[in-house]
Amino acid sequence: MKKFAVIGHPIGHTKSPVLHEAGFIELEIDATFEAVEVAPGDLASWVNGEFRNYHGVAVTIPHKEALLPLVQKLSPAAEAIGAVNTLYWEEDVICGTNTDCLGALRAIQSELPVLEGKKVLVLGAGGAARAVVFALKTAGAVTAIWNRTTDKAIKLAADFEIDPVESLSSLNPDNFDVIINATSVGLREWKSVLPADFWSPHHVAFDMVYDPLETKFLSDAAEAEAPCVTGDKMLVGQALEQFKLWHGVELEPEVMGTAFFQ
Ligand code: NAP
Repeated sequence: MKKFAVIGHPIGHTKSPVLHEAGFIELEIDATFEAVEVAPGDLASWVNGEFRNYHGVAVTIPHKEALLPLVQKLSPAAEAIGAVNTLYWEEDVICGTNTDCLGALRAIQSELPVLEGKKVLVLGAGGAARAVVFALKTAGAVTAIWNRTTDKAIKLAADFEIDPVESLSSLNPDNFDVIINATSVGLREWKSVLPADFWSPHHVAFDMVYDPLETKFLSDAAEAEAPCVTGDKMLVGQALEQFKLWHGVELEPEVMGTAFFQ
């Protein structure tokens, strides 16, 4: 039987086991998926010891950046984003990649399949923003980035050779096709980074926050008749990419999409 896990601290309530177990049942794969608490001080010894017992491991807060020096072979995505959310083996080599970028792409493309040349505004400059900016760049979108702490937006913009935006009030909303909330604003609160009158029907709105799924950001966009993409699409999308990597098979998105709501 193959063993998989998600590691984090505190590991708390994570959707990873239920998403992957739904895939095991669907494809009759003999495997287990557990949630494992790993304290930051124990990360290096866990990766170099316990990880031998697993075929693959998903990684959540706060270990995504700390894993970089512990992984022997990094994917170009993990290197560019500066974070690892998936561990796997190639023979005896510990490999790390980042599937958040492909998860974000799957989410946006559920509303807008072709991103080449589309103008995208990303709000936020944390780990999630880095993943989506990398994904947008590979898809050929033209991205601008705003962050509450401007220096972080400038740094991220320089890393990915995109445009930083210093002030939201200086922007013409008509200049954007897609607007993405990659801040934690809206997480268990009814707030949005954008004023409600920013939205028009021609925008596509994507909020990475998935607790709750219906956020003020998306509610304001929906009120203006803009199509909306909820945060579960990214969470499920990145797990589907992990599944493909670990098992070598594509899982129907609906299998994990339904499991998300269990
Ligand atoms: P992070 O690295 O801690 O970054 C947090 C970001 O939110 C920073 O840009 C921060 O700006 C901004 N922010 C926080 N409070 C703010 C406020 N009051 N006003 C304006 N901006 C504020 O977090 P992360 O890992 O990037 O995650 C960001 C969000 O994405 C979280 O809600 C997370 O749950 C979600 N997420 C979803 C998925 C998914 O699969 N759907 C995956 C990853 C993350 P400063 O730099 O100014 O502090």
